[in-house]
Amino acid sequence: MEFHEGAAAATGDGVLDFSRLNLSTLNVDSVSDERKHDTKQMYLNNNRLVSLPSSICLFSNLEFLDISNNGLTTLSEGITRLTKLRTLLAKNNRLNEYSLPKEFGSLHLEVLNFSGNRFEEIPLQCTQMLRLQSLSLGGNRLKSIPPEIENLTSLELLYLGGNLINAIPPEVANLPFLTYLVLCDNRIQSVPPQLTRLNSLRSLSLHNNLLTYLPREILSLVHLQELSLRGNPLVVRFVKEMTYDPPSLLELAGRTIKSRNIPYHPHELPDNLLHYLDLASKCPNPKCAGVYFDSCVRHIKFVDFCGKYRLPLMHYLCSPECTSPCSSNPQSDAESEDESSVPADRLQRVLLG
Ligand SMILES: [Zn+2]
Repeated sequence: MEFHEGAAAATGDGVLDFSRLNLSTLNVDSVSDERKHDTKQMYLNNNRLVSLPSSICLFSNLEFLDISNNGLTTLSEGITRLTKLRTLLAKNNRLNEYSLPKEFGSLHLEVLNFSGNRFEEIPLQCTQMLRLQSLSLGGNRLKSIPPEIENLTSLELLYLGGNLINAIPPEVANLPFLTYLVLCDNRIQSVPPQLTRLNSLRSLSLHNNLLTYLPREILSLVHLQELSLRGNPLVVRFVKEMTYDPPSLLELAGRTIKSRNIPYHPHELPDNLLHYLDLASKCPNPKCAGVYFDSCVRHIKFVDFCGKYRLPLMHYLCSPECTSPCSSNPQSDAESEDESSVPADRLQRVLLG
């Protein structure tokens, strides 16, 4: 099917709107060379295209391309010659990781939307786009997030809701500008404590997953304003594990030196012991002045957020005795912990139920 330029809505300079024309092929012969050269935005969404033909590369100054809501199964090599393309919207097609040209990662995209497709993994080409600020792959069949995600150091928005993801790799924490992280409607069972390094994070969407607790470190996400947790078993089921290996003699000695502030000098001890003593962690129980090294108890404690919400946070205590003030019933576990209370003005929305 051939379309005529007259059929396209002339919405302004540099814009070609071929959306909703029932197109099954793209024939651009009727578009003048000058128009091709001048086109910066092209809308091909809501048609019946099965593949994006190489003739797209004739629009060499294209900055924005919307090919959403077609039946696309492949993107041709031609797209990789659109060196000025910054935004590619390809929502709701039939694309998977085999649909993309090998050199797709050489595009200088800032916004890429592949939501509503058939990707089973995040294509490696996507992790090569170092200028990417917004990556959306919601509503696909993703089972995991590759560690290479950490290459996308310009990323501000990562939308991966509605997939089959069962874990968050710690490499996600290496995205310094990440502001919106959407991982709702997946199968995630835990949040890595490293996420606390996401200093720019303002919104964390984790609803409808399989979370039973949050790492205590989540309290240090100082810019977090929105946290959605509804539809997780964490509020319903209280988890408490009491597996505890007795501390070694080395650990007991180390604990004594640290908790009683026994002085020591670098020349008195071998390097490995000095290093070991540096690894001491302070027991987070405010009623305990102790430290621990390798031997500790994993403990889930409900903590008040903003005076309204109680979140199950995981932390490690120095010994099983340290948990005695805490009850296994979250409702009666009402003691307040000054160090873990959160200023009410910080989290503006916590969606639990
Ligand atoms: Zn303790």
